[in-house]
Amino acid sequence: MGNEINREEITLKGIPASPGIAMGPAFLIETEEPAVHRRQISDEEIPNEISRFEDALIQTRKEILEIQKKISEEMSSEHAEIFNAHLLVLEDKMFLEEVISRLRKEKFTVEYILVDVIKKYIKVFSRMDDEYLKERISDIDDVGKRILRHLIGQQRQDLTKLKEKVIVVAYNLSPSDTALMHKESVLGFVTDIGGRTSHTAIMAKSLEIPAVVGLEKVSRWVKNGDYLIVNGNEGIVIINPREETLKKYQEELLRFEEFTRRLEGLRDLPAETLDGYRVKIVANIESPQEIPSVLAHGAFGIGLYRTEYFYMNRKDLPSEEEQYAAYRRVAIQMAPHSVTIRTLDLGGDKFVSQLDIPYEINPFMGWRAIRFCLARPDIFKTQLSAILRASLDGKLRLMYPLISGIEELQQANRILREVKEDLRKRNICFDENLEVGAMIEVPSAAMISDILAKEVDFFSIGTNDLIQYSLAVDRVNEKIAYLYEPAHPAILRIIKNIIDSAHSEGIWVGMCGEMAGEVLFIPLLLGLGLDEFSVSPVTVPEIKQVIRSMTISQAKEIARECLTFSTSEEILKFLRLKLKEIVPEVIV
Ligand code: PEP
Ligand code: MG
Repeated sequence: MGNEINREEITLKGIPASPGIAMGPAFLIETEEPAVHRRQISDEEIPNEISRFEDALIQTRKEILEIQKKISEEMSSEHAEIFNAHLLVLEDKMFLEEVISRLRKEKFTVEYILVDVIKKYIKVFSRMDDEYLKERISDIDDVGKRILRHLIGQQRQDLTKLKEKVIVVAYNLSPSDTALMHKESVLGFVTDIGGRTSHTAIMAKSLEIPAVVGLEKVSRWVKNGDYLIVNGNEGIVIINPREETLKKYQEELLRFEEFTRRLEGLRDLPAETLDGYRVKIVANIESPQEIPSVLAHGAFGIGLYRTEYFYMNRKDLPSEEEQYAAYRRVAIQMAPHSVTIRTLDLGGDKFVSQLDIPYEINPFMGWRAIRFCLARPDIFKTQLSAILRASLDGKLRLMYPLISGIEELQQANRILREVKEDLRKRNICFDENLEVGAMIEVPSAAMISDILAKEVDFFSIGTNDLIQYSLAVDRVNEKIAYLYEPAHPAILRIIKNIIDSAHSEGIWVGMCGEMAGEVLFIPLLLGLGLDEFSVSPVTVPEIKQVIRSMTISQAKEIARECLTFSTSEEILKFLRLKLKEIVPEVIV
């Protein structure tokens, strides 16, 4: 069981990112970026430093060739070609000579010189006007890190290559790293940094991999092979548990599985209150592969299809045909239920290397989402055209992310009209009544929701961003995670305002941020009048159960009472009490 190491049991508290309990051996893939010290070396050490550098280059080359081979076997040779640029950096004479000549002249360790040379290259390249050269920055950075890891004997493992079932431990994982994980080999994962609405956490939920993030120092505490318990329900990680702890968790796991099994009976039932008031429970997905899970958990549609994963872990941009095929497949598989496709929402914590998104100090407030699409109508139009074409095969909707004002919304709608016109000219049919919505996730949009409502068919409240912008709390920063509070009285008022103004204008409102899937907030959101809850598939049954166990008048009363409190603490306490009355067996 890996517990023979017999190190002491350690419990760490982090942020619950994806529910479930996982137990297994730790697999450390990355610790905090290594500190490289400025250490002077003697003349005698120089040959040894050069030979360490050469060894690291050989190892790095081997590593890249292996990754390339694997990718071309599992994906395509085109995807594998992306690594040719990495190999070119390794063979760049100027770069290699600069490291070696500076090492001889300045006499510092090779790690120190390497980091300095790489930094200089990145600086020079980022000032260039040539787009191609600018794009090489990430290749240089990646190769530099790989060489450095070989020099200091620390390797980042390939997550697609795991042979046994493990719990992945890392300083950080990007959303695209997480997208490469296989549920069969990754039992769970834990990271030092990150917040509960980071896209890494959201991806873990989609993949149904239990995860705890924001543990601050887990990658320093854990050694490879340590036995770990990951409690993704409560955000707890136990390193090398004692026998009695292990037993307690094995029992807990059985209880959790039993609870989940019991909820399966709700799959085909509607989300209807005891007094007959119905809302819609739909699912959030990041890829069409999740549709079987959406249907198995009893979601009656898709309220948010995050299309940006289409653009990740690949070299080129997805073509209209490729997107059309994917959207069409989703529409057909989900019919007669609706599927809301969100147009590209890159930036923030989601990047793709093939697009030239420059480095920004505040990426969440920067050139992202609809701002990026309006600046790149070529990319935007390709996607809109694919969505429209697929709309004939099922019930599709589309929505724009990060709308902050009326001009942006009108501009997006104008481009949509142009794309429709173009399709008509080409005699290509599409659903003329396709509903178009705006995500409300910026406070300015929430404040003018009455004005925006006149331009669209529906709203979808993106609380993940709405909370971070309203409370000025970065959603991926674990140090201020305690301030990221959906139950803040300001958030409740903002949500009420959005729902009320939408209803006054005769349009419906959904919510697709993580708040919609937190069982504690269901009675409150129901009472505020939310029409559609879009949540990760695993949480659908529990939410249905809460809605089916109460009346709409009870929910309205709960919402009314919540709006009278002045602190989130009072609101949370009240909601816990009420939820326990409604569904005593629920875990909150
Ligand atoms: C949101 O912001 O709530 C949302 C659903 O969008 P994303 O999490 O992808 O930013
Ligand atoms: Mg968002």
